[in-house]
Amino acid sequence: MKLHTNCKSCKEDIKITSSAETRPDLQMEKGSEFKVNCTNCGKFDKKHVNDISASPNKTMLLTGIILGIFATIVLWFFYGAIGAASLTIPFLFWQQQVKATHAFNSYMIRRK
Ligand SMILES: [Zn+2]
Repeated sequence: MKLHTNCKSCKEDIKITSSAETRPDLQMEKGSEFKVNCTNCGKFDKKHVNDISASPNKTMLLTGIILGIFATIVLWFFYGAIGAASLTIPFLFWQQQVKATHAFNSYMIRRK
């Protein structure tokens, strides 16, 4: 899962570097409002934690696919066709990403 928001001046995506899995986690880490720096136009912007949205991380999916293929080859060697079950690994990775993203996006912090 990756976190991002958009720049007020140039509308470009700004990536948020955080390992927070949920919105309250992000709030605990950075506060209700925090400064973001646009890498496109260089402007600093103040963002509320609710302005941040999450999307599935494609790198994680790719890792899942590679792991899945690798596990399938290894397990196929030892167990035969049943090893193909590990082809579901990428789907599990993807499902986890989508779930985490949905949980993050659907939970809003109450604004004071
Ligand atoms: Zn910008």
